[in-house]
Amino acid sequence: MRKVLILGATGSIGSQALDVIERNNDLMCVGLSAATDWERLVELAERHRVERVALADPYAAAKASESWEGGEVLSGAEGLMRLVVETDCDIVLNAIVGSAGLGPTVAALGEGIDLALANKESLVVGGDLVMQLAEGTGAHLIPVDSEHSALYQLLASERPGTVDKLVLTASGGPFRGQSRDQLGEVSVEQALKHPTWEMGGKITIDSATLMNKGLEVIEAHHLFGTEYDAIDVVVHPQSIIHSLIQLNDGSTLAHLGYPDMRVPISYALNHPSREDVPLRPLDLVELGALTFEAPDRDAFPCLRLAEAAGRAGGSAPCVMNAANEVAVQAFLGGELSFLGIPEVIERTLEVMPADPFGHFSQIPAVDDEARAKAREFVGQVPVR
Ligand code: NDP
Ligand code: MG
Repeated sequence: MRKVLILGATGSIGSQALDVIERNNDLMCVGLSAATDWERLVELAERHRVERVALADPYAAAKASESWEGGEVLSGAEGLMRLVVETDCDIVLNAIVGSAGLGPTVAALGEGIDLALANKESLVVGGDLVMQLAEGTGAHLIPVDSEHSALYQLLASERPGTVDKLVLTASGGPFRGQSRDQLGEVSVEQALKHPTWEMGGKITIDSATLMNKGLEVIEAHHLFGTEYDAIDVVVHPQSIIHSLIQLNDGSTLAHLGYPDMRVPISYALNHPSREDVPLRPLDLVELGALTFEAPDRDAFPCLRLAEAAGRAGGSAPCVMNAANEVAVQAFLGGELSFLGIPEVIERTLEVMPADPFGHFSQIPAVDDEARAKAREFVGQVPVR
């Protein structure tokens, strides 16, 4: 029996992970966390007979403690850390959204606990340090992001020196094919309608701006130790090919399947076994055609900004990520236009040049400063 701790249990990935666990007799859930949604968290704890939960928001934690007698409620960022280091578990699934996921990533890997990582922001913000930590403690880091799960599986059978390129596929989001001018009037509602994946709000906006693919390029760089020149992005609107690798003998290998996050979640939680997931087999004849196009970095500058920040290294990806989180929040709140998102990120990067990151303790101050600067720029960029 493998004991799984789920962080971000009330979200899109967290809920699908609980579905995977319910269908699998070899997996059991031993702890859950959320930020504020204490009622849903308590419901999940009862359903999965979990005796320990954590809520990042102390007010929500207090409400949960008052109304739930089935177990212990830990509170705040410290409570989340305690849940990770004190719960007897075999693997942690980090499905928290945003750079708030970095602390729990570091806590799990630092304890030598295997980590199924959906929270790509952990690697964007602290990639070099996170990978060094995993190497130091011997904990396995298994990606949940569908493209990276695909690459992880494709790379598993390759020897060093045979892989020329990683190719990440991107759906292109709801505004694929639109020009920069057309994107000026985009509404929040339109941006939240993703053509192929159902996901949480933040990543859905990241997919619409192509920032999600930018974050994923940085994620791939760290996970697989691949130079940026050897990571390509191709737009593939059907989201059937999850990623590809190009090899030195002219072969290209691809990972295919219908878009359903339970597949990479199940892969990460069961690794190295592969268990049943209730999905119909891929019907290539029904699909008929798979199409590909180049990403438009002029209409969607977030991809370009993320790639440049990744190449600059040090604190640049952390600054870029913090500015993006602020800008996306502002867009969702009606305070910033869709095109204002890359503008706020670019301005923040301009005023905070890349510094080397030698230790995790340097990260929070940079993250805070970038958020404060980005908030100032949100106030200066017109809403429409
Ligand atoms: P959701 O917004 O659906 O869920 C986020 C979860 O994190 C919720 O449980 C939320 O709790 C919790 N949370 C939010 N803020 C904090 C915080 N500050 N501290 C602790 N917990 C917090 O996100 P998704 O499930 O869509 O995404 C999660 C991660 O997985 C992201 O990094 C995303 O990029 C990545 N990912 C998601 C995919 C998807 O299909 N959804 C695909 C690939 C990667 P509460 O409900 O209380 O707010
Ligand atoms: Mg992805």
